[in-house]
Amino acid sequence: MLVKPGKMMVTRSIVVMTALILALSIISGASLVNIMIIKGEEYQSDASEQQLYDSLITAPRGDIYDCNMQLLATSSAAWTVYITPNGIKKLESEEAEEVKKTIAEGLSEILDLDYETVYGYTEKNSYYVIVKKKIEKSAADEVRQFILDNEELELTKYIGIDETTKRYYPNDSLASVVLGFVGSDDQGLSGIESYYDNDLTGIAGRVVAAKNAAGTNMPFSYEKVEEGTKGKSLVLTLDSYVQYTAEKYLEAAIEENQIAERGAAVVMNVNTGAIIAMAVKGDFDPNEPFELSAEDQAKVDAAETEEEKSKLENELLNRQWRNKAVSDTYEPGSVFKIVTAAIALEENLINKNSSFYCSGVTTVAGRTYHCHKAGGHGSQNLLQAISNSCNPAFITIGQLVGVSTFSKYFKAFGLTEKTGIDLPGEANSTYHKEEDMGPVELSSSSFGQTFNVTPMQLISAVAASVNGGYLVQPHVVEKKLDENGKVVETASTSYKRQVISETTSATMRELLQFVAENGAKNALVPGYDIGAKTGTSQKVSKILATGDDYLYIGSCVTVAPADNPEIAVFVMLDEPKGDKYYGGTIAAPVNSQIMKDILPYLGYEPSYTEEELKALSLTVPDTVGSSVEDAKNKVTSSKLEYKIVGSGEKVLRQLPEAGTKVISGGTVILYTEDVGNEKVTVPNLLNLSVTDVNTAASAAGLNVEFSGNTTMGGLKSYSQSIDPGETVDAGTVITVYFREDSAADG
Ligand SMILES: [Zn+2]
Repeated sequence: MLVKPGKMMVTRSIVVMTALILALSIISGASLVNIMIIKGEEYQSDASEQQLYDSLITAPRGDIYDCNMQLLATSSAAWTVYITPNGIKKLESEEAEEVKKTIAEGLSEILDLDYETVYGYTEKNSYYVIVKKKIEKSAADEVRQFILDNEELELTKYIGIDETTKRYYPNDSLASVVLGFVGSDDQGLSGIESYYDNDLTGIAGRVVAAKNAAGTNMPFSYEKVEEGTKGKSLVLTLDSYVQYTAEKYLEAAIEENQIAERGAAVVMNVNTGAIIAMAVKGDFDPNEPFELSAEDQAKVDAAETEEEKSKLENELLNRQWRNKAVSDTYEPGSVFKIVTAAIALEENLINKNSSFYCSGVTTVAGRTYHCHKAGGHGSQNLLQAISNSCNPAFITIGQLVGVSTFSKYFKAFGLTEKTGIDLPGEANSTYHKEEDMGPVELSSSSFGQTFNVTPMQLISAVAASVNGGYLVQPHVVEKKLDENGKVVETASTSYKRQVISETTSATMRELLQFVAENGAKNALVPGYDIGAKTGTSQKVSKILATGDDYLYIGSCVTVAPADNPEIAVFVMLDEPKGDKYYGGTIAAPVNSQIMKDILPYLGYEPSYTEEELKALSLTVPDTVGSSVEDAKNKVTSSKLEYKIVGSGEKVLRQLPEAGTKVISGGTVILYTEDVGNEKVTVPNLLNLSVTDVNTAASAAGLNVEFSGNTTMGGLKSYSQSIDPGETVDAGTVITVYFREDSAADG
C-alpha cells in the first residue's frame, strides 16, 4: 500500500480510542499509518466527539549540488492550507452557513481559487480537506490574518496551516532536463529527481496526538513525536559554469539557425565518463515545469477545440521535458566515420597512408551513392578521406571491414545497448542486425546512416576511440551525502571494456586533429589543439512520412587537447530551417565557442601562435580618475586608440568600460566633461570578411569583438550581437560571429 505524507483524522469512541492508543505504543510507525489509512473510513463513519490526530512531518528532500557544491536544487519552506468541514457540521445550521461562506470568500480570494470550489470543500464529509498546497509565506500570513479578522466565528477551529517544503531550483532553467522536477507531493517525476527519488526522499517524521473535534487536546492527552530524516543529497559531475556556457551558445545557435526540433550539447570527460554539462534547448523551468514557452503556449491557444488544445499541450510539455541527449535517437551521419575508421585501423585493414579514390559516385550491389562533392575528391589518403568526409571512401572501408567484423565492433563500442547513464528514460539504438546486413546496409552504415543511436551512445563510442580504447560508463552523479553532509557513496570510474588498442587510439587522435585543421575548421579554438568530426544527416523516415525534404540534423564532436584528450564536446542541431544545415557550418562554431570558454576555466593553458596572438582580443584599461595624459598612456600601452571628448583635465568616464574585450585597433572614448554620450547607428556587419567588419565598425564609431577562429582565411560574419539600425553609445562593443560557410560534410 502506498503511503503518502499527509494528515489523517479519525474519529472513534473513547473506549476504542484508548485501546488504539495502547496498541500504538507497541506497533511500528509504518503499520500504524497502514492501520489508519485502511481503517480510516470505518473510524470516520463512527461519528463521535473524539479524533485521533496523526500528522506526518514532511522530511526535507535532499539537495542537489554541482561538482563545486553550488546548489542546483533545494527545498524551502512552504505552507499547506486545509479545512475541517466535519467540525463546521457541528454548528447550528445558520452559523454553519455563515462560516462556510466566510471561509469560501476569504480563502478563494487569498489563494486565487474559485468561490464555488472552496465552498464545495466546506461541504465535504471529512475532517481534513486540503484547500491549497505549497503556498508562499506571504499567502500563509494572509490566511492567518484572515482567521484573526474573523475572530467571532472562531475560524481557527476550521482552518489549519501546516508548514511543509517546496522544491526550489535557484538557477531557473539551468540543467533542467538533467535535474528534472518533482510533483505536488515532492515525488521525483523526471531527471535526477526521478532516477534518484529513493535517495532524495527523506523519512517522514510523525506527531501522533489525541484531540477532540474542535482540535483541542483530549483530557488524557497523548502525544508522540518522531523526528524525520532528511533525504540524501547528491553531488553531480556537472559544473554550473560549463553547463551555463553550453546552454548559452546552444541557445544562440538554435535561434540563429532557426532550429525546429531543439538541440543538445554534451561536455564529457572522456577518461572518466563524468558528464560536465548536458544542455538541451528548448527546455523548461523546473520551478514551473507545467508552464510552456510563450511560443508553445501560442500554438496551444491557436488550437480549435478543447480536446486538441489539451492533446497539443501534453505533447509540448512532454517534449520540453525530454532529454534529447539520452531519450532520443538520431542518425549520426558522418561523425560515425570515426568508428568506421577505428574498426578498420584496429583490424589492420587500412593505415594512415592507405589510398582511396573518389570519382564522386560509387556503386555497391546495384545501389548508387554520391559523394557530397560533385566530381569527387580524386585520390586521397585516410587523413584526407576523413577530413573530406568522403562517403565513397568510407563505403570502401566498410566493405573492407565486412558485415561480421563491423557488427562485432558496433556492439563492442556500446552501440547496441543503453549506456546505463544514471538518468531515466534512456532510449536504445535501432540498427541492422548482422543476419539482416548485406553490402547495401553495410555501405550506408559505414558513413553513419540507416541506423539510429542516442547522442550519449555516440559520445561514449567517440570517447573510446580517443582515450586509449576504453568504453567508459557515462554518469551524472558523483557522490551521495547523508543528512550531515558526510559522503556515503562515491561513483568510481568504470570501464566496460577495451574496444581498440592504444596504438589505434593514437592514430584516431591524429586523424581528428587533421580533420579539425583541414576540414572542420569552424571547430578550431585559438591557442588550443583540437580534434573534430562533423556530420550532417537527412531525417530519412520523416522525409518519407511528410514529403518535406529539407530535414537535416547537423552535429559536431570535438576533443581537446588533441594529443591527449580529456574533454569531449558534442553539439547537435535538429532541423535547421535557415539556409545553412551542414554540421560543419552550424554546429562546429558552437563546439568552438564552448571549448574557447571552458578550456581555460578547466585549467588548460592556451599556447598561441604568433598569428593567433595578433588576432587576440585586448582588454580595455581603467582610466577613470586619471589625468588626460596618464589616460592616453594607459590606452596606447594597451595597444588601443583613444578619443577625447571635452576639455577637462581628468577622465570622468570611458567607453568601453575597463575590462571589456575588444579587437586590436579599437578606440576608447575618454570623457573629460559632463556631456551626454555620443550616439551612433549600428551598421550591418553581416556577410563580410574580418577586415571589412573592422573597417565598417570603426567608421561607425564602434568597437568589435570577434567570435570564431579569425586567424583562418576565408571567414564570413554570420551574426552580430546588436542588430543593424539600432542606436547605441559611440564606442560600444559589438560581438561579431565568423565562420567558414562552405563546410560541407555529407
Ligand atoms: Zn568524395
